[in-house]
Amino acid sequence: MLKWQRAKSKNGQKPLYTFEEIDGNTLRVIRDNKGEIFERNFSIGHRFTTYNGLLVEMVSLNPNGGSSDSGYYLIVREITKNGLGRKTDVSAQNQIDILYWNQNESEEFIAPSEVQGAGVFIEGAVKKVLVNRYEREPKARKACIDHFGATCQICHFNFSKVYGVYGEGFIEVHHVKPLSEINDSYTVDPVEDLVPVCSNCHSILHRGKTPLSVAQMQAMFAGVRKDA
Ligand SMILES: [Zn+2]
Ligand SMILES: [Zn+2]
Repeated sequence: MLKWQRAKSKNGQKPLYTFEEIDGNTLRVIRDNKGEIFERNFSIGHRFTTYNGLLVEMVSLNPNGGSSDSGYYLIVREITKNGLGRKTDVSAQNQIDILYWNQNESEEFIAPSEVQGAGVFIEGAVKKVLVNRYEREPKARKACIDHFGATCQICHFNFSKVYGVYGEGFIEVHHVKPLSEINDSYTVDPVEDLVPVCSNCHSILHRGKTPLSVAQMQAMFAGVRKDA
């Protein structure tokens, strides 16, 4: 049984990664940050999105992975309309990081409708209020919906098509600009910084600690539809 360990630094933390070949089809990656263990198996056929929003399918383990410093233990191919496309390098460390940061449910998303008055929230929640404020800004919202239409830009859900006239014009608006890029003089750009999304997609976008990108969500949704 092959087993490797690699340390990686992120935001001052130093999780330890262990790569274990369970069999010829399955790689187990364990992320150990000071005893906080997160592990996941990657198997042939497993689909996931990469940092740049590509949907890829794992086609084999990398036989040279144990000697690679960057942690490229997976060999994946991009999924295109015509099936499997070109080979793309994907680091197992990156994948476990994405899974870890986005499936850590310690901080649940607070929907705009649940936010009532500032001052009673802890620091993390206040940041969410700040983002949600942009998502609720009526002028910017309207300009965004005028530009894109009241249709989810991820799954194409349209409330009026399903709920008839009662759903007409309803859509949520997601603010994509990272908090780190926002300062006091910031004004929201309705087309660049906002995107209409349905309530389901909006919830999943915000499920993790840091929101997924719209490209990642679109790739995920395309993958689900392909399998359906
Ligand atoms: Zn949607
Ligand atoms: Zn949002």
